[in-house]
Amino acid sequence: MKQSRLFNYVEEEADSAPSEMIRPKDCCKLCGLCVGRTNLVLPSGDLRSKVVFVGEAPGETEDKLGRPFVGKSGKLLDRLMKDEGLDRSKVMITNTVKCRPPNNRAPTEEEMAACRQFLESELYEKEVIVGLGKSSCRDLLGYEGKMGDIVNKDRSIVVRDREILFIPTYHPAACIYNRDSTDALRATIRRVRDEFL
Ligand code: SF4
Repeated sequence: MKQSRLFNYVEEEADSAPSEMIRPKDCCKLCGLCVGRTNLVLPSGDLRSKVVFVGEAPGETEDKLGRPFVGKSGKLLDRLMKDEGLDRSKVMITNTVKCRPPNNRAPTEEEMAACRQFLESELYEKEVIVGLGKSSCRDLLGYEGKMGDIVNKDRSIVVRDREILFIPTYHPAACIYNRDSTDALRATIRRVRDEFL
């Protein structure tokens, strides 16, 4: 199936979109998440950055605004990035799926598989992928275990013909009331700041 080019991002981001990047059509019905969608939630930030943070799925605020990580978790991520001197506009931020799952449940295998072609096109030219939380690690690493066993331990994944560094870490939602998870996510952010930006 031929996919549309990335013509419908917000204006300041569309110009910078890599040619590899494809986006779902606004009417995409490749999986059941289309049913409750208000807006597609597409990548934001510097679409050409070497660094991408991949979260789970849009929540209520993201669905309403059509932007990733703008709700409670996004605000915490913003604060941690600001504390650590990492400018959010210098990285790309996206999710495994582009439509909000009902009641903020995790996306299913089938939903992530349906949306993977879009995610892969977003990841293809990156040097480092930061996997935020369980769904991201399940989708991209096939990892089903405890996050605590892999956080900040380097992995790699193959996206089409490219091997790309993958750093698993906690989703900001898991950090809201947890100091240890917050410290681990801060460490990830510091490393990205120091080694890749
Ligand atoms: S989650 Fe992805 S594949 Fe499913 S309907 Fe939305 S854009 Fe299409």
